[in-house]
Amino acid sequence: MKMILLGPPGAGKGTQAARLVEYFAIPQISTGDMLRAAVRAQTPMGLKAKAAMDSGALVTDEIVIGIVSERLQQEDCSSGFILDGFPRTLAQADALNATLLDLGKNLDAVVSLQVGTDVLVERLTGRRACRGCARGFHVRFDPPAVEGACDGCGAELFQRDDDQEATIRNRMDVYHKQTAPLEGYYGQAGLLKVVDGMAPIADVQRQVLDILKAI
Ligand code: AMP
Repeated sequence: MKMILLGPPGAGKGTQAARLVEYFAIPQISTGDMLRAAVRAQTPMGLKAKAAMDSGALVTDEIVIGIVSERLQQEDCSSGFILDGFPRTLAQADALNATLLDLGKNLDAVVSLQVGTDVLVERLTGRRACRGCARGFHVRFDPPAVEGACDGCGAELFQRDDDQEATIRNRMDVYHKQTAPLEGYYGQAGLLKVVDGMAPIADVQRQVLDILKAI
């Protein structure tokens, strides 16, 4: 299965990707996670990306296209992959086509998770992640048993800097201007599948799996 999960920040791409990883035994390629790791490690790429990420803007196409092209050539992507958070611009989508063509691969599906803006803001402002194992929680919808601590490994939970409300509004604007046009792009290519991302997590998972199994 070679697929893209499309949708605004907070649509549930990461949550669904984690479940699809288990089901299909293929890797999740999250550009956001890769960039955050580069920022933490203070690599030259991380240092370049940090200011854009902190403000909710996009990192340059050149940087993300480079990391995804490299990642797709690794052995564990040979039987499939789930792209989460990439592509986010038309230029990235064109570059992905070129990379896949070089590798002799085709996309099977682009699944778009549809969620209203107010729900997205509520999901993102309450989102927390574990510093130890990166497991995700939500203060209202999926709270940990002990406030501020991970149920799995006990490490501290934290809020991403870009999940503050002002930055979230900027990320939404960026999504509508730069990423939403990809729905038309993949619709024309006959790859777009639309899913109601407002439903409970397990229901969304069922919808996504039903679509993918039918391909
Ligand atoms: P995410 O975790 O997918 O919400 O990504 C967090 C931040 O990383 C975004 O707000 C961007 O600044 C940056 N980022 C992640 N993926 C991309 C991408 N494909 N293109 C440009 N910037 C990205």
